Amino acid sequence: MNTRMIGDVAVSRVEEMCGPGFRPDALLPAFQREALAEQADWLMPNHYHEGLDRLVASVHSWVIRTEHHTILVDTCIGNHKERPAMERWHQLDLPFLERLAEAGVQPEEVDFVMCTHLHVDHVGWNTRLENGRWVPTFPNAKYVFARNEFEHWSETTDEEAARIGDANILAFNDSVLPVVEAGLAEMVDGEHQLGDRLLIEPAPGHTPGSCTLKLTSNGAEALFIGDIMHHALQVYYPHWNSCFCVDPEMSHATRRRILEESADRDRLLMPAHFGAPHAGRVVGKGDGFALAF
Ligand SMILES: [Zn+2]
Repeated sequence: MNTRMIGDVAVSRVEEMCGPGFRPDALLPAFQREALAEQADWLMPNHYHEGLDRLVASVHSWVIRTEHHTILVDTCIGNHKERPAMERWHQLDLPFLERLAEAGVQPEEVDFVMCTHLHVDHVGWNTRLENGRWVPTFPNAKYVFARNEFEHWSETTDEEAARIGDANILAFNDSVLPVVEAGLAEMVDGEHQLGDRLLIEPAPGHTPGSCTLKLTSNGAEALFIGDIMHHALQVYYPHWNSCFCVDPEMSHATRRRILEESADRDRLLMPAHFGAPHAGRVVGKGDGFALAF
């Protein structure tokens, strides 16, 4: 279990899975092979599996414990979910809740669940299967979603969903709607303060309602960025979008803004999928950026 202190706030990473995932040119359509040599000093083995030619990806949640609240940021893929189009994510049976318990958190103790966006790998543990029904995993939590993100996924019709068979639609139905139906969802617009230490800020592009979450404590700062960057290579090549970015231009602009804001300041970047050690500081390098893990 890895726990860091940001000021006087403890932040733990709870892993669902970590290993070789997408091929570089599949995840990052603009990928150029020279990058593997240019970034060789940090890429292998934690961020790129050379033998398989696959980028290493982690799927994890961040748990933030302030003096007053326990907050879970992004909830991975989840167990027992039907994801036939995503073989690695289909019908999982992984000890995520046991790992959350190792981090010192029982589901009943979570005060807020914050999903940076509503893609399939960020909402899964919102619900769990109980007697054949999807029920909220964190019964005492407020689940915080950006309203425009929720509306974006709500507007997909059943016919469209059936036609495209999109894992994100399946996830919306089994991992987001049951939370709303249970009355546990809190829709927020724009900037939104969460407790005394956290600020939700819009960061659109990857999806229409993608948000970041900023933690400040005793002068220290951490920024939870969801999938604004999917892989650490995007720090070095900010113009490379992931294949899942809905609006390419806006994704790029938001990524660049966050890199510029983060460079050379005392801020830890906490992405959703980077390989070990999973978080780092952005530093300026020439006219671009590098990551100091
Ligand atoms: Zn993701």
